[in-house]
Amino acid sequence: MPMQSSSPQDERPLFQAMRRGWMRRCPKCGTAPLFEGYLKVRDHCGNCGEAYHHHRADDMPAWATILIVGHLLAGSILTAEQTWQPPIWIHFTLWPSLGAAISLFLLPRLKGAVVGMQWANRMHGFDQPSGPARSLD
Ligand SMILES: [Zn+2]
Repeated sequence: MPMQSSSPQDERPLFQAMRRGWMRRCPKCGTAPLFEGYLKVRDHCGNCGEAYHHHRADDMPAWATILIVGHLLAGSILTAEQTWQPPIWIHFTLWPSLGAAISLFLLPRLKGAVVGMQWANRMHGFDQPSGPARSLD
């Protein structure tokens, strides 16, 4: 009888992993926090032991954050100027504050989604058999 190359435990649904990452949870088990602090990804999951030290989110979360926030703010500024024409002090206070707030909200969530995407697609060392972390010594 031929052996199957993958079992249901080996399946890694992309949307579920990215959603769990967006929630800043482990893409594999969905329970333990993915980050220690604001943006630092933990080396391993505290619940299932899945290793995360080999993720390579790099600049993609920042790139996606800039893309989203830039489009939101550019459209909002143009719309406000064409319809409301607020005083200049509102431009100088509202848009930087709004941009910073939205960026700080999106950045860790997008980073979690990127790590979840890499995990689901078995990228950058996530292709190793999952399970409790093994000691190197
Ligand atoms: Zn986990």
